[in-house]
Amino acid sequence: MFRRIRRRAKELSEAQKQFAELQGQVPPGFGVPAPEPEPADSAAVVDDFLPPDLRVPSHDQVEGTIMPWKQPLVLDGDMAACAACGAYRDWLILSTHGEIWLRCRAGHQQQETRIDTAWFNRHSGPADATHSTFEDCLRHLGH
Ligand SMILES: [Zn+2]
Repeated sequence: MFRRIRRRAKELSEAQKQFAELQGQVPPGFGVPAPEPEPADSAAVVDDFLPPDLRVPSHDQVEGTIMPWKQPLVLDGDMAACAACGAYRDWLILSTHGEIWLRCRAGHQQQETRIDTAWFNRHSGPADATHSTFEDCLRHLGH
């Protein structure tokens, strides 16, 4: 993983290059520290920092996947609607710990028991980005 980071260093932003150089100064045996949370303005650059199969989220990160769902979400013939504001489109669908949650544009969240992780995985593509925090991920998705 370390070598991969070095090899890709020339594609990285200036801040990430500095980080890679810092890592190069870490004494052998010290280990490679987990990246610090990135400042917001570099979040977009981090998206392709590593291929998804090399990203191993640590357990202090949010475990879950978020899928944007712009169109109305019809489940068992009913259109899902936000219990708080009545929104019925422009969802974020969250899959976390075996539960599915819907988040409306206004930020209300409700659990959706009519769909499950298998449904989520069928409808979602491969992850295009990994974010260290839920807030980072929401920002990436424009919420
Ligand atoms: Zn709502």
